[in-house]
Amino acid sequence: MASAQLISGTELAKKIRAEVAADVAALRARGVTPGLTVVLIGDDPASAVYVGAKERASREAGMAGETIRLPASTSQAQLLALVEQLNQDVRVHGILVQMPLPKQIDPDTVIRQIRPDKDVDGFHPVNVGKLLIGETDGFAPCTPAGVQRMLVEYGVETRGANVVVIGRSTIVGKPMAALLMQSGPGADATVTVCHSRTRDLASHTRSADILIVAAGRPRMVTADMVKPGAVVIDVGMNRIADPTTKSGTRLVGDVDFDAVRQVASLITPVPGGVGPMTIAMLLRNTVRAAQRTLPA
Ligand code: NAP
Repeated sequence: MASAQLISGTELAKKIRAEVAADVAALRARGVTPGLTVVLIGDDPASAVYVGAKERASREAGMAGETIRLPASTSQAQLLALVEQLNQDVRVHGILVQMPLPKQIDPDTVIRQIRPDKDVDGFHPVNVGKLLIGETDGFAPCTPAGVQRMLVEYGVETRGANVVVIGRSTIVGKPMAALLMQSGPGADATVTVCHSRTRDLASHTRSADILIVAAGRPRMVTADMVKPGAVVIDVGMNRIADPTTKSGTRLVGDVDFDAVRQVASLITPVPGGVGPMTIAMLLRNTVRAAQRTLPA
């Protein structure tokens, strides 16, 4: 079989960001500038990179972005008070508290403090519940929402398709399954969710028309685990040692890309696949939050 066509998250994210920029311009014409406030606590280098990218992207889209950087010693009470202040601030439409948080702060308590209509990450229990019920006025988490959009944009038929998701985390695997099992466009799939306790993982993955991998295990999905012609979406982002690069490390996904590419029909690369979509969908959610503040 010829090697798979690439799904370019980089290109698609550009398109979504252009749509977002147009929506931002329309909102500004009506006197509303969408505002995304990101809170970064401590000095985790990976978090700093993610936050920098979100800040840049929101500025490029014409939003009023702000990043509040606090020391690692910040108490939970201080963070909750800040979130409450942002909840009250009418200029702030989206609030994102970058994870992971220092040990003294309970992430679930912080997520519950964010007003659901400003929770553009889609992690508040109200938004999680709305997603499961199929109510569309909440916010879906950005990474799985980005994956769904990729499938739609590349014309992948999800209706009636066997989708296998590897991973059951709250931020990727579970909401991914919830999105694809809804009724409607880009959904209507028959979804199987696999995890570390799944017996004979390959027997499940080989039945997948669409295989979505979010396990955080470098190159765990090998070619023999993939049905010929399947669509493979690799959410994994793993930094591995690579002495041939300047930094001494390299980013790889959860899929053995070179081998699986020979079997699949469509595949996402890492980097340049799901990653850029996550930020684009964050901007999308922030614009929606701002649009919902307009009088009907
Ligand atoms: P996570 O919370 O660690 O969850 C990993 C999931 O994979 C768990 O449900 C785990 O099962 C399952 N798993 C682990 N090893 C497995 C195995 N050998 N066989 C079957 N299932 C296995 O990770 P996450 O936050 O969902 O992230 C997953 C990956 O996506 C990571 O590489 C992360 O960096 C990446 N990610 C990328 C983006 C992006 O924008 N591209 C966004 C978020 C995350 P148990 O539940 O049984 O432990």
